[in-house]
Amino acid sequence: MDEFDLISRYFEPLQLADGDIKLGIGDDAAIVDLSGDHAITTAVDTLVEGVHFPTGMEAGAVGYRSLAVNLSDFAAIGATPRYATLALALPAVDQKWLEAFSVGLGQALRAADISLIGGDTCQGALTITIQLIGTIDGAPMARQGAKPGDTLLVSGTLGDARAGLELMKQPGGIDTGHSKALVERFMRPQARLTLGVEARCYANAAIDVSDGLLADVGHVMTSSGCSAEIEVDRLPISREIQAVFGCERALAYALAGGDDYELVLSVSPKYLDRVMRISSDVSVPLTVVGRVRTGAGVVCLDSKGQELPLGSKGYRHFT
Ligand code: ADP
Ligand code: MG
Repeated sequence: MDEFDLISRYFEPLQLADGDIKLGIGDDAAIVDLSGDHAITTAVDTLVEGVHFPTGMEAGAVGYRSLAVNLSDFAAIGATPRYATLALALPAVDQKWLEAFSVGLGQALRAADISLIGGDTCQGALTITIQLIGTIDGAPMARQGAKPGDTLLVSGTLGDARAGLELMKQPGGIDTGHSKALVERFMRPQARLTLGVEARCYANAAIDVSDGLLADVGHVMTSSGCSAEIEVDRLPISREIQAVFGCERALAYALAGGDDYELVLSVSPKYLDRVMRISSDVSVPLTVVGRVRTGAGVVCLDSKGQELPLGSKGYRHFT
């Protein structure tokens, strides 16, 4: 099977019938018609085996996760994805692997109702680069918009993906139902697209949690010229992570674990009720975890309002 067989067998089926695709897989470049009164949005992410996911991770999960982490960036500004391109470096043509990878990628594409329209395929260390193209109606939830007095909200639960990654590294670590649920959170993150689009008008700022809550809230505060207080007792922590790792590790992973792909929203008190209604309408729980203040940096407070010492600042490449 050569490069072209591989593309037509595994990736062409992921291009859906869509009248706005004027030129798609099989030509030199793709053309989509996104004319309308919205701005065009794009984001790209690369996943390298052994860096972004453990070597040997199940191919279906590699496909699913590669798209999901990109979708999460769209969710974080409130944009709607429409199309994806896939640049894939593969060590060898392994048909079983490609079959599972394309099925996992297809599931993530369909869940977001988007189409694959092109890409590039070459031989090399397993590396997946996905670019998204889509639209946004109106102003984005940018990182720079947080204001002193805002409430900080986070979707879903924190720390589970990092816990799942730890379990994946342990031989025989994925046995109980709880462990499986945690590993699933790492392998198949759920981008909060609907929440992002619906909250866009009401949040002053947002970010998706990829490096860890403290690090990512820190990015928002730096961009906004504000500081944040996080009340650790309020953090949404799953039963699963507490059952498998206990409270202390669960808290450490929730604060600094990364890979959650949950949204942090910075919301003015006047829109808080509105945003909580959206949360219930789209069935994505939101939890108040702190507030924005003047100043700089991020502090954690215990239940008595005492400042806690901060640990890890999250994941950074090249450090
Ligand atoms: P070119 O030589 O013009 O770069 P390629 O041979 O790389 O074209 O690709 C042929 C066609 O297949 C192009 O339309 C390209 O967008 C598409 N394609 C290549 N690899 C992938 C992939 N992994 N997923 C989806 N489409 C792909
Ligand atoms: Mg090419």
